[in-house]
Amino acid sequence: MKKIAVFPGSFDPITRGHESIVIRALPLFDEVIVAVGQNAEKNYYFTLEKRMAWISEVFRGFPAIRVESYQGLTVDFCRQREAQYIVRGLRTSADFEFERSIGQINRKIHPGLETIFLLATPELSALNSSIVRDIIRNNGDPKPFIPETIHKDFM
Ligand code: ADP
Repeated sequence: MKKIAVFPGSFDPITRGHESIVIRALPLFDEVIVAVGQNAEKNYYFTLEKRMAWISEVFRGFPAIRVESYQGLTVDFCRQREAQYIVRGLRTSADFEFERSIGQINRKIHPGLETIFLLATPELSALNSSIVRDIIRNNGDPKPFIPETIHKDFM
């Protein structure tokens, strides 16, 4: 059976932290679906189209990586895609506490589903999309924090 993992998130916008987790997850699975959440109650800084276009560009050279959007529960999306794994990155103990309950509840809802955690690399563990948004909003240079492939959009 094909090992399929879903890497869910807002990716508002994709950062080097996300990029690193996807690349590191790649050898563990046959396919990694980067799943861009679209939650009606959440206000995103970048449109779904923009967030997805950047992710597609970053992973263009990788046939085992797919980019999709989804609404609703991540577990339902995993079921639809027959994914057996969710991948999440852990930066801090706060991430761990947050992820632990979600992972445990998800497994209760969908017993076949395992959440796999990858530890953030130390140099990227302070990085999150909200910092990058702040930099962009205030006309700073976000390039050190976003994948090189999309630097051209921030010149
Ligand atoms: P969410 O909308 O769940 O906050 P994000 O788009 O911020 O999602 O992140 C998606 C996933 O990427 C999460 O598992 C998060 O922990 C992980 N992640 C984000 N930034 C980093 C980073 N710098 N290093 C490792 N993992 C990260």
